[in-house]
Amino acid sequence: MAFPPAFLDELAARNPIEEVVGQYVNLKRSGSNLFGLCPFHGEKTASFSVAPDKGIYYCFGCHKGGSVINFEMEIEGLSYPDAVRALAQRAGMEVPEDEQYQSRYRQQERLWALSKEAARFFVSQLYAPAGAEGLAYAQKRGLTKGTLTRFGIGFAPNSWNSLCDAMLAKGYTEEELKDAGLVSVSQKNGRIYDRFRNRLMFPIIDVRGNVIGFGGRVMDDSTPKYLNSPETIIFNKRKNLFALNISKKSKLGYLILVEGYMDAIALHQYGFDCAVASLGTSLTEEHAVLLSRYTEQVVLIYDGDDAGQNATKRAIPMLEKAGLQVKVLQMRDAKDPDEYLRKFGADKFRLLLEESSNRMEYQLRAIQKKYDLTVDEERIRFVSEAADFISSLPGAVQREIYGTRAAEAAGISGDAMKLEVSKAFKRRMAREKRKQEHIDLAPAAARQPKSRTIHYENVKSAMAEENVIALCLRDPGLMEQTRDLKPESFSSPLLGRVYGQLQRQYESGKDPSLAGLTDFTGEEMAHIAGILQRSTEPVSEQALKDSIRVIRQASQFKNAGSDEDLLSLQKKLRESKGIKA
Ligand SMILES: [Zn+2]
Repeated sequence: MAFPPAFLDELAARNPIEEVVGQYVNLKRSGSNLFGLCPFHGEKTASFSVAPDKGIYYCFGCHKGGSVINFEMEIEGLSYPDAVRALAQRAGMEVPEDEQYQSRYRQQERLWALSKEAARFFVSQLYAPAGAEGLAYAQKRGLTKGTLTRFGIGFAPNSWNSLCDAMLAKGYTEEELKDAGLVSVSQKNGRIYDRFRNRLMFPIIDVRGNVIGFGGRVMDDSTPKYLNSPETIIFNKRKNLFALNISKKSKLGYLILVEGYMDAIALHQYGFDCAVASLGTSLTEEHAVLLSRYTEQVVLIYDGDDAGQNATKRAIPMLEKAGLQVKVLQMRDAKDPDEYLRKFGADKFRLLLEESSNRMEYQLRAIQKKYDLTVDEERIRFVSEAADFISSLPGAVQREIYGTRAAEAAGISGDAMKLEVSKAFKRRMAREKRKQEHIDLAPAAARQPKSRTIHYENVKSAMAEENVIALCLRDPGLMEQTRDLKPESFSSPLLGRVYGQLQRQYESGKDPSLAGLTDFTGEEMAHIAGILQRSTEPVSEQALKDSIRVIRQASQFKNAGSDEDLLSLQKKLRESKGIKA
């Protein structure tokens, strides 16, 4: 996706980053930066920074960062071209015609329209003779007419081509049906056929109201029980949750997260209009952040089996990291919320909700369940594991409350438990200290980028490369001194690319800027913004020269072909430092 650099420059100039961010974050000035609470991770002290002069934002806590375009992408969940489009609209600018972009956006619009059309078709089938079995099944599952309508539930007939034929007749192409994930392709003859057959159909709708995919449920015990749309250019399972489009308007003040569509739908039908479900994947960090945009509290209700309990354990830290308060509801006498509501009704469920424990109670109870407390040996092991957990709690009051509870469960005195907790606390501190020492002793590893996908081969050279980039961005005049330094000399391909683009900007007569960089991923942009925000040492020609020398040496070593070259290089290097060989 390429927009002209001049357009991007103007876009950045007409959308001052502090104004755009300021719509979401309360910013306070501190020196040349503005600080506020990070909108991307939960925090109580402001580690989210905006540098108006550099046109970037960067969070020292979660390391998200980038230009105003990256911010718009991240906060609104938009693709790069859509974020550019939104900012252009904000500033009243015309987006330059770009064939590639226009065609991709048109394609998305076509697929949204096609998916909506398909949803309508499935609904019509539910009430047609072909859908009699589906409607009977829905009624047997206790779904009311109102629920069927609210969720747009439909039926895919038991046929290989009824959806295909209906959509082709409406002017959609086979290619579009494939792109929307509505059909499969026969391996034998390459012909397309309906992907969803003889299933109750649940449209998946994003928070902006677009139909982006479907889940289809069988009506007997055959497998797979649920069939979902594949990932497409409009459907990303990691970033969407079922029924969030409805639940985001709930007045209940919290969101309930469940495992399946049927659970979410049952909860809505019984008046809990705040239930959402993940789409056949485990919870992702993106989901947690998405949830945190609409609520501060999440009640987790996963199935009582081992898989459900493990999923709960994984979900808790992810949700907390997104700044959410987490409660866990444990189902009793029913395997899931759907079954529970049908057996016991809404009032009983409300009681269960009120009793739902915070994650600390939940975790303590999970530890307790592992041991038979009538056996002395197991009681001792329980006390030790519980003490370890309690010592990890941040507040003294929490440690006191859960310490007492664990003591009662184990049948020991509160004082004895306190002693165990304080021992566990010391062990934990010792562990942390060892870990910290390990980091201090291994500076290279500690200075690796925090990102999972960016890795430095040569940390020493990469630090110098970061320095060159930061210095040139902070004082564009310094670019003149780097004319002989080639991007190929950089040990980090990513930093080499950044530097190459900065050089090109400078050569075309512009001040190098982050806003003018193109074709970097969000993660890469965040990393680059981090380099700039962390760079605080005084700008000087000498600092630049020192860094360039480090880069040159590293690259000469790398390019040295034979051992002989290497030896002579080493000799030169020693001589330059005044060391005798
Ligand atoms: Zn953050």
